[in-house]
Amino acid sequence: MPHVTPVIRSDAHLAHAGLVELASGVEIPCWESPERAVVIEAALRAEGGFAFEEPSEHGAEAILRVHDADMVDVVENAWTDAAAAGAVDGARSLIADTFLLGPYTERMQVGDPPTARHLRLGARCFDTATPIVAGTAGAARVAVDVALSTAERALAGEPLAYGLCRPPGHHAAGAMFGGYCYFNNAAIVAQWLIDQGAARRIAIVDIDYHHGNGTQQIFWERGDVLYVSLHADPMRAYPYFSGNASETGSGDGAGLTRNWPLPARTVFDEYATALSEALDLVAAFDADGPIVVSAGFDTFERDPIGDLALRTPDYARIGEMIGALGARLIVLQEGGYALDALGANAVALLNGLRQSDEPG
Ligand SMILES: [Zn+2]
Repeated sequence: MPHVTPVIRSDAHLAHAGLVELASGVEIPCWESPERAVVIEAALRAEGGFAFEEPSEHGAEAILRVHDADMVDVVENAWTDAAAAGAVDGARSLIADTFLLGPYTERMQVGDPPTARHLRLGARCFDTATPIVAGTAGAARVAVDVALSTAERALAGEPLAYGLCRPPGHHAAGAMFGGYCYFNNAAIVAQWLIDQGAARRIAIVDIDYHHGNGTQQIFWERGDVLYVSLHADPMRAYPYFSGNASETGSGDGAGLTRNWPLPARTVFDEYATALSEALDLVAAFDADGPIVVSAGFDTFERDPIGDLALRTPDYARIGEMIGALGARLIVLQEGGYALDALGANAVALLNGLRQSDEPG
């Protein structure tokens, strides 16, 4: 009888819907849609061997250990401030139209930004792909609860626990959100594990198609968190400004950030070479807590916003490779936008991961 894997999930994300984003100047339906989590859950239920659980509430404390209080304030209150100002139409998303880039204030002492939080969105959001609607703040908060509840299952002894987080998290930096991400679920879990005394050293393995700029930024100078990421080369792919192999951390964190930028149409054999290198570093890091996996499926060959060439069975092999580390695993959902294959890819990864979690 195979071990039953806990899946932490909630319907709260369904309110983070009706999203639009700007792509090359055109307003399009947001790729990061509620259907993503719906199809993954349906596929896991059809597969069997998973136990579905609701998250428990954890409050803001763990979020504020990782994120700037003003950024959290903007995420949580931009919509209500905009609504109070009569600035929203229920069918539309809030997207910043002005961005506070470093050069804006260069060499100047400027006054305080607007108190209305929708008017300082562009001081806290770095792109036009991360809309806010009425249900966004609640969904983002529950995604963190999902992640932390998943971590609790790992601490209770589960060899593998999966958090069906939506919205995703790995693009959210300490003081800035973006990339469909509001709060960095994986980073919050890593910090929480350390704060709980559950671990002194944590490794995060990021297999999303995109570089996890937020996770890298949060732990850049940390000697107790290893961040390894395989992703599309930022020379051609979002988020463009980070994810190069030359970025390896600094200070106490020198050498503890490692990136594998990958060429277009990368297939599994090439991917596996990079993943082996990353996992060797994870093994050598000697983490003493669960490994946190930022799991994205936008590396899939038919993903509408990716250009790598992994196929569904490849995710099982990726899972087996990560599972072979023999550590407890906290797997958190990040990206993946090929709705017709997303469920099968998640099933493949989780089945691969639990190959090695048979009790024995
Ligand atoms: Zn992604």
